[in-house]
Amino acid sequence: MAKGKINVSVENIFPLIKKFLYSDHEIFLRELISNATDATLKLKHLTNLGEAKVEYGNPKIEIKINEEDKTLHIIDQGIGMTKDEVEKYINEVAFSGANEFLEKYKDTAEDSGIIGHFGLGFYSAFMVADKVEIITKSYKDEPAAHWTCEGTVDFTLTEGDKKEHGTEIILHINKEEEEFLKETRIEELLIKYNKFMPIPIKFGTKDKTLPKAEDAPEEEEPKTVKVDNIINNPNPAWTKQPTELEDQDYKDFYRELYPMQFEDPLFHIHLNVDYPFNLTGILYFPKLSNDMTMQKDKIQLYQNQVFVTDNVEGIVPEFLTMLKGVIDSPDIPLNVSRSYLQADGAVKKISSYISRKVADQLRKMFKDNREDFEEKWNDIKVVIEYGMLTEDKFYDRAKKFTLYPTVDDEYFTFEEFEEKIKENQTDKDDKLIILYASHKEEQHSYIQTAKEKGYEILLLDSPLVPHFIQKLESENQNISFVRVDSDHIDNLIKKEEEQISKLSEEEKEEVKKEFERVVPKENYTVQLQDMNSDAAPIIITQPEFMRRMKEMQATGGGGFMGMGNMPEMYNLVVNTNSELIQTILGSKTEKKRTRLINQAMDLARLSHNLLKGEDLTNFVKRSFEMIK
Ligand code: ADP
Repeated sequence: MAKGKINVSVENIFPLIKKFLYSDHEIFLRELISNATDATLKLKHLTNLGEAKVEYGNPKIEIKINEEDKTLHIIDQGIGMTKDEVEKYINEVAFSGANEFLEKYKDTAEDSGIIGHFGLGFYSAFMVADKVEIITKSYKDEPAAHWTCEGTVDFTLTEGDKKEHGTEIILHINKEEEEFLKETRIEELLIKYNKFMPIPIKFGTKDKTLPKAEDAPEEEEPKTVKVDNIINNPNPAWTKQPTELEDQDYKDFYRELYPMQFEDPLFHIHLNVDYPFNLTGILYFPKLSNDMTMQKDKIQLYQNQVFVTDNVEGIVPEFLTMLKGVIDSPDIPLNVSRSYLQADGAVKKISSYISRKVADQLRKMFKDNREDFEEKWNDIKVVIEYGMLTEDKFYDRAKKFTLYPTVDDEYFTFEEFEEKIKENQTDKDDKLIILYASHKEEQHSYIQTAKEKGYEILLLDSPLVPHFIQKLESENQNISFVRVDSDHIDNLIKKEEEQISKLSEEEKEEVKKEFERVVPKENYTVQLQDMNSDAAPIIITQPEFMRRMKEMQATGGGGFMGMGNMPEMYNLVVNTNSELIQTILGSKTEKKRTRLINQAMDLARLSHNLLKGEDLTNFVKRSFEMIK
């Protein structure tokens, strides 16, 4: 028997391993299964080359719990190690790796972000075990070896009696970590980290019902047999070529990734590059609601089919973190902190590759089947708008296929829409006025008015709209976005003929004075306008600028601090040609004028969703009185 001391400079490495890896103990299993997978794949390689004389067969990795002995076993059928190799790889190499890591990170290791993504390798076993045994037999014609270490620098190494090539790691789970002897906990970990690893992983057995023989009698019970319970799918869709997959395969894989998700994705994008970096993956566009908050953390990052994290911030462009799916790359450095990751050149390239690939795919969909693209538009627009806001390159690509729906469900590209309105929707400075609504119901009367005048109105209802139109305006100096309720339409758009006024200048003065007397000055600015006599007598509008600032602040626009306390300011547009205004002017007593103005005001507020609470109650009461 060989005895020895592991050669370390940091004597107390075991306490360190335990301490620093505290937050993420569970990764030991991922590490050991990764080693088992590597060992198996190495054997495959060697047998392919004809260098190993053994049969490769259909190897699997088995995980076993022995409750009595309080041990957890990880068993592979890979290349195994000779005694010399255990000396070399376990006592020297593995240890120096662990040692180096701890040396390097012992000051910063509190940042569990580093640890969580760093493969500490074999020695992470000591996070959960007091004693670790390795029983291993090389594929070479040499006796097996049995290594034991009790979490100190002392180890023993003897000859073992294992006959088949491969390695069994036995963890004597320590008292505080007994959760790792529970079947449910281990199964949970296997599913989390190893669901798509390339070698089948067996964990216990399960019952399988056999089909009955054709001539079997009716009453015969179907037979069940025990079969291996295989945890993983060793050939997940993203590892295949797009040409091998049907649409249904992508949908099935989506189910596999998100078993609790019942809705099909809208479409997918298959990523596949091998130069200048390696990356495969499938991204899915789910149906996105307008609520952007709950969508993140759905993309899973793998490294050679081993789950790493579902926090892909910095690797996937920010706006695409709303998507779902998987990305697998051996080139993403995982043993570094997030801030380092974001500065990493390779990672930046990956991010811009993904962004471009997504833009290309969207453009293709737009070109190939515009009708279908229009149908999907409302479910994907948030992602695209967000992308255009946050990435200039994506903006340039996306502007060719970004759609602008009208209130009548027609879809235009920006160019098409410009073309459509350029004749009759300009202001006095010849700027194109793009009228839009954010809510068909709430802005119904304004939409109606604009439509009657023959104008086109967009329906822009995503939460990013205030930012998005700001961006569009800064990119296109000759346009202005104006919401239908932000001013009177005739003030916005240049019109051919002037309305004739039914009131004299003095009468107009008087109308203005009367309204200003009744209506609170701090909320309303009174404006007079000669409109059609059958248009509404008064209309409330909120200036575009004011509303937009408030909206941007609400969605985190920044730069408008302190505007939250600003009073709600509205314009009160009075139609001087309406009959009601004539009636008000004709009324003799101040009391009657006040009553008429208040009633008209309430009606206008009602149609703008501004009449609430006590005012609404009083209005309803008063109106009932009137018709009694
Ligand atoms: P890494 O896997 O990053 O090289 P580890 O500490 O996990 O570091 O393992 C050190 C070495 O021990 C491996 O490179 C490998 O040579 C050997 N080894 C570990 N586990 C196994 C195993 N199950 N079968 C064969 N060799 C193994």
